[in-house]
Amino acid sequence: MNPTADPTLIEPSPAALRPDGTQRSYTVRTLGCQMNVHDSERLSGSLESAGYVAAETPEDADVVVINTCAVRENAANRLYGQLGHLAGVKRGREGMQIAVGGCLAQKDQGTIVEKAPWVDVVFGTHNMGSLPALLERARHNQEAQVELLEALEVFPSTLPTKRDSASSGWVSISVGCNNTCTFCIVPSLRGKEKDRRPGDILAEVQALVDDGAIEVTLLGQNVNTYGVEFGDRQAFGKLLRAMGEIEGLERVRFTSPHPAAFTDDVIAAMAETHNVMPSLHMPLQSGSDSILKAMRRSYRSRRFLGILDSVREQIPNAAITTDIIVGFPGETDDDFEDTLRVVEASRFSSAFTFQYSIRPGTPAATMEDQVPKAVVQERYERLMALQERVSLEENQAQIGRTVQVLVSVGEGKKDAATRRLSGRAEDNRLVHFAVPAGAEEPRPGDVVTVAVTAAAPHFLIADDSGTYALRRTRAGDAWDRRQADSCGVPASPADPTAPRAVSLGLPTIRTR
Ligand code: SF4
Repeated sequence: MNPTADPTLIEPSPAALRPDGTQRSYTVRTLGCQMNVHDSERLSGSLESAGYVAAETPEDADVVVINTCAVRENAANRLYGQLGHLAGVKRGREGMQIAVGGCLAQKDQGTIVEKAPWVDVVFGTHNMGSLPALLERARHNQEAQVELLEALEVFPSTLPTKRDSASSGWVSISVGCNNTCTFCIVPSLRGKEKDRRPGDILAEVQALVDDGAIEVTLLGQNVNTYGVEFGDRQAFGKLLRAMGEIEGLERVRFTSPHPAAFTDDVIAAMAETHNVMPSLHMPLQSGSDSILKAMRRSYRSRRFLGILDSVREQIPNAAITTDIIVGFPGETDDDFEDTLRVVEASRFSSAFTFQYSIRPGTPAATMEDQVPKAVVQERYERLMALQERVSLEENQAQIGRTVQVLVSVGEGKKDAATRRLSGRAEDNRLVHFAVPAGAEEPRPGDVVTVAVTAAAPHFLIADDSGTYALRRTRAGDAWDRRQADSCGVPASPADPTAPRAVSLGLPTIRTR
């Protein structure tokens, strides 16, 4: 059965009210990947539609939701560590509820309430929209509710959403994955790939833009196989081109593609669509062909490097990032040298590097020739050192360039001390920039033009006051309105573009 793509309406829940009639508060803690961050926005939106309010401080929340991850190392330890702490908090707080969802919940199922009987609700990756109903049932029945579905009931995108950022939004184009990478738990937890219809995706993007967003990231476990379900192998490239038609959408990104199915039509669509940004995350995983085979990744290192060449030929300023796993079972010194060779040749602007560790439930977990921890550590450090050098060299090559930076919130940890602001260049590099004395300060969501004056492996600095220019954007206006809303000062009621705190997941398609 295909998941429904119709908007999911969440009814107001009596459990969202305290006995005195005031609203219960919630907080959502996200462990794991971007997909989970996006799912958490849906969980927040669903809870707010049911009548809950965001807790002023997460420690005071009446409902704590943990959105778990089964991919990262120590995910289970982190979850049970957090649950152990929450047990004490719950004892001291009348009526508090704890819910656990996401990939690890889908995997561990009833084990969670066996190990942590103070948990009230366990829900999976296929039924996120059930959370308010499950909280209500747990309260009414006075017992834990565990509900996990084997198949997707509704696309997460049909749920209400509460977006973190006024300027940028995530739009999922597919869920699940048809690949069987031997280190990955995703296919068994998220199921086969299900693609949303292009019209639904475009309508959601349009709604985000109407809400003030100027940047959208298309999300999927394997974005470039998008369309396989409805029989159009070129659907992803077409979708990128359609993004170029959306007025007011300035930046389009996507994650993650898979090298095996990354075809020339996608590269051409990236190069020829004005608002698709010159950045690409292309997971390498290993530079050794025999390890790629053992990982059941069907491309080889030559093909991978060929893709990068084609991308750079057509998009010369593209910044390419990657994921690499070190110490996969059976990885020899020669295999690792191959990875170093491919990394050196790839000139990634940055890389997420992981030490392989056993993930129960994956085929690789039971492979022979697990690599000793000390060897993995040593290889990992060598790889990190190489990538740090390449990242620095690539960033130093940016010095003197003028870049357009979309100003963000919270990306510059030292901004207060350095008196700089931060944001992302078009190629997604992090830029810390100084606002010249007397110049107008940008708001989050505005775009500034700055010249790069210095570089480090993970960021660029732009301190040249001569080139600074500010462009106020709709996203900056949206941020202003959010600020006004959160201070209790309403934005102009006459303004039809004023953002809603929670929007329905799936808007209707507008005719233009
Ligand atoms: S492509 Fe491989 S690594 Fe990515 S989600 Fe699918 S199985 Fe996992």
